[in-house]
Amino acid sequence: MRNAAERKRVVVIGAGLGGTSAAIMLARQGFEVTLVEKNGHVGGKLNRLQTQGFSFDLGPSIFTLPQIFRPLFDGKGKRMEDYISLQRLDPQWRNFFEDGMVLNLWEDRERMRVELGQFGTGVISEYESFLEYSRQQYDIVERGYLRRGFDTIGQFLRFYGWRDARNLDYLRSMSGSIYKRLSNPYLRDIFEYFVKYVGSSALDSPAFMNLMSNIQMEFGLWYVAGGLYQLATALRQRLHECGVTLLLEHEVLRIDSRGRSVSGVQVRSSNGLSSILDADFVVSNMEVIPAMQKLLSASRSAMKKLGRFQPSCSGIIIHLGLDRVYPQLAHHNFFYSRDLHTHFRRVFREGKLPDDPTLYVVAPTRTDPSQAPAGCDNIKILPHIPALDESRPTTREDYEALRNVCLEKLERMGLTDLRRHIVVEDFWTPFDIEARYGSNRGSIYGVVCDRRRNFAFKASKQSSEFDNLFFVGGSVNPGGGMPMVTLSGQHVARMIAEQSERGTR
Ligand SMILES: Cc1cc2nc3c(=O)[nH]c(=O)nc-3n(C[C@H](O)[C@H](O)[C@H](O)COP(=O)(O)OP(=O)(O)OC[C@H]3O[C@@H](n4cnc5c(N)ncnc54)[C@H](O)[C@@H]3O)c2cc1C
Repeated sequence: MRNAAERKRVVVIGAGLGGTSAAIMLARQGFEVTLVEKNGHVGGKLNRLQTQGFSFDLGPSIFTLPQIFRPLFDGKGKRMEDYISLQRLDPQWRNFFEDGMVLNLWEDRERMRVELGQFGTGVISEYESFLEYSRQQYDIVERGYLRRGFDTIGQFLRFYGWRDARNLDYLRSMSGSIYKRLSNPYLRDIFEYFVKYVGSSALDSPAFMNLMSNIQMEFGLWYVAGGLYQLATALRQRLHECGVTLLLEHEVLRIDSRGRSVSGVQVRSSNGLSSILDADFVVSNMEVIPAMQKLLSASRSAMKKLGRFQPSCSGIIIHLGLDRVYPQLAHHNFFYSRDLHTHFRRVFREGKLPDDPTLYVVAPTRTDPSQAPAGCDNIKILPHIPALDESRPTTREDYEALRNVCLEKLERMGLTDLRRHIVVEDFWTPFDIEARYGSNRGSIYGVVCDRRRNFAFKASKQSSEFDNLFFVGGSVNPGGGMPMVTLSGQHVARMIAEQSERGTR
């Protein structure tokens, strides 16, 4: 712990997983941390709605890479297991196709071999060599980009050199590599849709993003007992234990700057009172583009430079409490578009709402009956759709029409009379996501992965204009999804500690 007199003050804007991770790691190193959050809870998109006996995880529902969360909890005789209890799910996903095919994706290799046996031994060996390829891509990306927290292609190339660069699959798209390696049409769809983790298109993401299947198959897919929101509850406890000052229902309106430094933030509480918080460092969990626009009134040229960091997809999110159970659903399910490439092109290239969306459907009572009253079901339906775009305006009515398309599709694909069994409904549009979390145009995962626009790089964690301003979360490297934004918080805490040590602050 540093001497209290030397303690540097850090203000963190936003208590999403990125901001919370940075706040905990900085406080553990002795910084005096104030975490300012405009909503009334810790966790950001990791949020919850409890109503009429149903408990809905409003944001993420798949927990991966638990090892990345460990540094937030472990130490001083405590372990992550003292705060949250994790359950490994297998089958990981159940996949439903329009022709009636239903395929489980098992982590257990033997069960997966049996599942694929119906297609012959050639498909099994293609599957296994695909996983080997995915592991190789993961290993390369993990030991540099993820572990060291790279932000630029220069750092990336210097570290990897030609030997690794040759093995990294960067020339093709995710989809191109999948089609080259897998001949089975169902497996092609399943592996292409791993791109859901980053809210992008498999046609446009670089092939090394196929590492995402390794993340899930090698390290498991997990549920947090009691609902994923239990993670947010545990992190709030950790903030308290680490001595972070938490200001909920306080919105940051402005970041103050002088020359190449920021000096603090202007905050407004929910009762309308304004105050200034001075800081030696500011960390923004508000995404880079809205923060530059709204909190720093950045120049047009600064905003133009950020143009390659376009938002990931948004979504409509339909939470349904049902007065019956659909036993054919596993905990995690995908109902695929008839033609996944048409879906990707329509959403990500044409910017249009999908007419035959791929639907992610979560039914947590398969693992945890506490999430709905007895005999009832709690399901979340999430199609990926374009982020808000002023040049192609959409209305709430457009999103309601899409909701009906989704429910009709599920009824056609086996959830008979779904609409007649709804007893509770909660419906989110991209407008709600943008308003509630301040995300860029309603994006769910931060910045889109696109090999032509940004080669899957996101914005830098350290501001190029202000030496003591840092960013965390889905809009900076390594990007969106719970583990990645948590990692960004840890990297930023390290970068601030190093800068502080060097005495440049
Ligand atoms: C429906 C849905 C499903 C998802 N599914 C998964 C999944 O299964 N697995 C997975 O890994 N990921 C999933 N994700 C993505 C995951 O939730 C996000 O990548 C991650 O939670 C984002 O964390 P973050 O810290 O970057 O941002 P956020 O969670 O958005 O946090 C930003 C915080 O900053 C606050 N804030 C913004 N501006 C200000 C301001 N001016 N003043 C004060 N506070 C401010 C916001 O209120 C918010 O709390 C899903 C997301 C959604 C919405």
